[in-house]
Amino acid sequence: MSKELILQKIKAYSRIMLFRHVRIDGDCVGATKGLKEIIKATWPEKEVYLIDDEHSDYLAFLGPDDEPVDNAFYEDALGIVIDVGSADRISNKRYMLCKELIKIDHHIEREPYGDICWVEEERSSACEMIADFYHTFQDQLVLTSRAATYIYTGMVTDSGRFQYEGVTGETLRLAALMLDHGVDTERLYAHLYLRDFHTLKFKAYIYETMHITENGVAYVAISREMQNRFGLTFEEACASIGYLDGIRDCLCWLAFIESSETQTIRVRLRSRFVAINTLAEKYRGGGHACASGATIYNEEEMRALLADADALVKEYKETHEGWL
Ligand code: AMP
Repeated sequence: MSKELILQKIKAYSRIMLFRHVRIDGDCVGATKGLKEIIKATWPEKEVYLIDDEHSDYLAFLGPDDEPVDNAFYEDALGIVIDVGSADRISNKRYMLCKELIKIDHHIEREPYGDICWVEEERSSACEMIADFYHTFQDQLVLTSRAATYIYTGMVTDSGRFQYEGVTGETLRLAALMLDHGVDTERLYAHLYLRDFHTLKFKAYIYETMHITENGVAYVAISREMQNRFGLTFEEACASIGYLDGIRDCLCWLAFIESSETQTIRVRLRSRFVAINTLAEKYRGGGHACASGATIYNEEEMRALLADADALVKEYKETHEGWL
């Protein structure tokens, strides 16, 4: 129902502004760029803007966003926010100026916002929802190979290459639909997964220095000094969360990354079997059951969060069977 309403609104407006979350990732970038490309290919006369201060070296291959425009541009526009659970995480705050606002999201919903909401928490990515939107109205919409590439990028990155829990037969069917429209997967995977030499040295260092709590929480803490020593960007340091998955008996893994810009510590939380989003919410965060983010301010909070995570895993192991 809300999908039908969203299509009607897109048809009705001549100007559309797209928004996504802070700390951009492949999903929010792919979904916003993908929907923009679909709208432009279908209705070339419409103005569609994607404006965001944030830049990611890792995702630079997907191309730049639009240049900033005056506030007046927002005022008679339809705003579409994709992949953002709560309004405080929308990166471009001028979403507030839009005449009407649509929310399309797959996070666990804490605070509804917007005039029309299409939220499906069980979807593996927001890009999967954009692929589904195209699929539902494919007789009325145009999907270029560029749009398919954007959308496929987010489907791949948010699902750990179709590995995580939210992936269903429907996910793979929609991914196949994107591939049918011409995605150069060899080039895409090279962009996403090739690593520089210094990053691999850093990975080796992470394996040398990671810790495991008594009940099976693996973690690393990456200081600013360490980021400087290895010549890492903050984004590269944050990617370290991915190095900790796949440890037997460790049902939860955490990376604490010190940010020089905001004087905070970014926490990335991942798990299998056990849900960690409530833990993230306790520390100014949120997200999905098995992939969440949070923000803390000092080592004392880091110790408290680790103790909470350890207790959570302990309780899970005591009350469940069959985990690995
Ligand atoms: P990250 O580790 O930052 O990639 O976050 C994992 C997931 O949790 C992503 O889907 C984020 O959008 C979400 N997330 C991260 N930080 C927060 C936060 N502070 N509040 C709500 N959701 C978050």
